[in-house]
Amino acid sequence: MPALDTNSILAGNRRALAKAITLTESSLPAHREEAQTLLEALLPHTGKSIRIGISGVPGVGKSTFIESFGQLLLSAGHRLAVLAVDPSSPVAGGSIMGDKTRMEQLSLEENVFIRPTPSGGTLGGVAQKTRETMLLCEAAGYDVIIVETVGVGQSEFQVAGMVDFFMLLMLPGGGDELQGIKKGIVEIADALVINKSDGEGAGIAAATESQYQSAFGLLRSEAHWTPVVTRCSALEKTGLDEVWSIIKSYVTSTTESGFFAHQRATQNRQWMHQLVQSMLLRRLKESAAVTAELPKLESEVEAQRITPYTAARRVIDLLNSA
Ligand code: GDP
Repeated sequence: MPALDTNSILAGNRRALAKAITLTESSLPAHREEAQTLLEALLPHTGKSIRIGISGVPGVGKSTFIESFGQLLLSAGHRLAVLAVDPSSPVAGGSIMGDKTRMEQLSLEENVFIRPTPSGGTLGGVAQKTRETMLLCEAAGYDVIIVETVGVGQSEFQVAGMVDFFMLLMLPGGGDELQGIKKGIVEIADALVINKSDGEGAGIAAATESQYQSAFGLLRSEAHWTPVVTRCSALEKTGLDEVWSIIKSYVTSTTESGFFAHQRATQNRQWMHQLVQSMLLRRLKESAAVTAELPKLESEVEAQRITPYTAARRVIDLLNSA
């Protein structure tokens, strides 16, 4: 792959951006090096966006919401990148988010860039690639980044850890357990948005909203932000302005308080630590000395001839002496 021109990315050239993303997604060491050089060069031009995470169970209306919400952002003059973290696609080969073309209208828009889940690798690896893609999109001038994920595994925690504002789309009726929402996710959301508040669902959506409103205050009330509950219809395009106002007021108030910058700094630091761990694990797996010794150490531990601690120490010594 030829060296990439940072200027074409900065100028918003889609082909250059797509090529750069492909480079960051490559597992070839030479490509990884090249991608890092590129990212370092672009780093001063990143960060000037609002990063929004959207999660929710399959069928809640994520793609419909992004389609409608995206149009609203476009008419307000924004440039939007939509990225996805779909934990099912790299593991099982089949994707919960579906292979059908999602967000059909939005994908035709000039000021929209849609990128599906990077393929292959662990969830951590996929999240890492998505973070890098986010930086590249920012350098290319996209000022709103939506990272979408399915609320069925650990991916929503990964996504919450890479965005400024994390929102959970919910169905009218039923508690979070009834809706199959994993424990702990409601607690990390900055907003709960009850979708499908239309037709017969409107009354139930209103009831669900007040139910969560009373529960939410008890759940979490942090100094920087009190989570908001609202409802919308992605299909009928109602309540979407309200969601955008909530996000904008979040950005304004957390920027003023310093939390916005603080959270990004924390996320970067945690990202670094995750990388250190995954790099160490990779070194461990690739170490010939460790691989040769490991079965013996395992059977000695199983037979209680040495303690797990001693065995672990030996593995680390082998790694250090390599
Ligand atoms: P996703 O799996 O979360 O991406 O959900 P989709 O966006 O594919 O939507 C699942 C189904 O719900 C589709 O048939 C949509 O037309 C429908 N849907 C999405 N949003 C709404 C809404 O606001 N109201 C109603 N009534 N249906 C909706």
